[in-house]
Amino acid sequence: MKILFATPECAPYVKTGGLGDVSAALPAMLAKLGHDVHLLMPAYRGMKVSGEIGDGVDLPAYSHWPAAQLVPVKTENGVTLLLLACPALYQRPGGPYVDANGRDYLDNAMRFGLLSRVAAQLGTVHSPLRGWTADVVHANDWPCGLAPLYLAQSRMIAPHERTAASILTIHNLAFQGVFPMGDADALGIPHHWRGMEGVEFWNDLSMLKAGIQFADAITTVSPTYAREIQTEAFGVGFDGILRARASRLRGILNGIDRQLWDPAQDALLPQRFSRDAMKGKAQCKSVLQQRVGLATDKTAPLFAVVSRLTAQKGIDLVLATLPGLVQAGGQLVVLGQGAPELQAALSEAARRHPKQVSVTLGFDEGLAHLIEAGADAFLMPSRFEPCGLNQMYSQAYGTPPIVAPVGGLLDSVTDATADPEHGTGFVMRSCDAAGLEDALVRSLAAWKQGRQWHRIQANGMAREFGWEDSALQYLEVYQAASVLAN
Ligand code: ADP
Repeated sequence: MKILFATPECAPYVKTGGLGDVSAALPAMLAKLGHDVHLLMPAYRGMKVSGEIGDGVDLPAYSHWPAAQLVPVKTENGVTLLLLACPALYQRPGGPYVDANGRDYLDNAMRFGLLSRVAAQLGTVHSPLRGWTADVVHANDWPCGLAPLYLAQSRMIAPHERTAASILTIHNLAFQGVFPMGDADALGIPHHWRGMEGVEFWNDLSMLKAGIQFADAITTVSPTYAREIQTEAFGVGFDGILRARASRLRGILNGIDRQLWDPAQDALLPQRFSRDAMKGKAQCKSVLQQRVGLATDKTAPLFAVVSRLTAQKGIDLVLATLPGLVQAGGQLVVLGQGAPELQAALSEAARRHPKQVSVTLGFDEGLAHLIEAGADAFLMPSRFEPCGLNQMYSQAYGTPPIVAPVGGLLDSVTDATADPEHGTGFVMRSCDAAGLEDALVRSLAAWKQGRQWHRIQANGMAREFGWEDSALQYLEVYQAASVLAN
């Protein structure tokens, strides 16, 4: 199959969250399974890519978009990277979505409208790549949400021409790509698709909604989240349209990248370890305690958080249960950045308990690996979690996760109280401070009885969480969508 994977971010070039990891792993696995995979993403400032760079293809200026270039790069893992070079739109200081001050770029509609438009074009007979037209265009999140609409438009204008099937994957429904309806002209959205049945969302336009309405198939990143987003509590205004398209919607759990996340080979760790040789984990714990300034104490249970610091991640619940954790002799290490009030509250807790609480504000891949390896247990009391990666990393690193009963967390963690034989972590019984407190108490009891804890660790470390199974499920979706599209 010829697969175009369109994404606004891809590790290791540019990553702000889970989508960056998925974009690195899934296309590579699809290529390994023998498919012809092209990955389209903007060429941001300072991006370093390695591989064989091909001749750029000129894309003429169109509507309100400046001229651009498509630069193919053959990468080592068999995926052809297609860099969308348009310096006026993408060569800027700051992140993929926000400027250096953390504010959304004012022209994000046009920046990601172009990404979507080029993605769609690559799935038509007018593909700018001579001799290459995608069979499926896999659009990810709101920045690519208009691609299915543009493909539907092509089909309408030229019904006899072959167009690619479109797949939208929702990595987080909370980000909806909402812009003033006034942008619809510049984006070339036809008038008859500007209403409720099209892109309209509370009088504005939503790029994510465009994707949901027009994609031949929709996926999201865990089976439980696929069900949750069809309910009012999790649907953030989109539950109705998702219910209407339920027959096209499927949840596929993300895998993890075992090349990067394997404690037996992880070059970022001071000591490596595995299920049968756990000594290195104790050494990682003491290195971690020293590095972040906690008391170097083997007997103190060390809990960890590595996360964006936002309301979604339940950081307020961690703060609410912190006094009990400290009183029980526990330690907490936090790595993250985000909402100023959460950063301030965490920093204040660290000042109050300097030997038991440590907070590092910022993004630090190396420290994230050391925390996964050195901590005893990992906290993820998220209010919602489409898939979540850290709970899988922590199981792989013998660091049982304590998680909220939502989304991908439910699909990837087995509660050790309910199922002592197969348990890999602790699932909160309710999504509040009492639920976290109860799970903390249960985990501390198991930790104190070493044998029970070792079993939970070993169960988690035996889990595969590989990408192959997920990639095969995506292929099924691509095939089904192709049938529906043609
Ligand atoms: P989300 O995509 O909602 O942020 P996920 O758990 O799916 O959450 O993925 C987050 C990814 O980003 C993980 O790989 C995690 O280790 C990483 N991460 C988050 N915050 C930090 C940080 N401050 N430093 C290093 N890595 C981080």
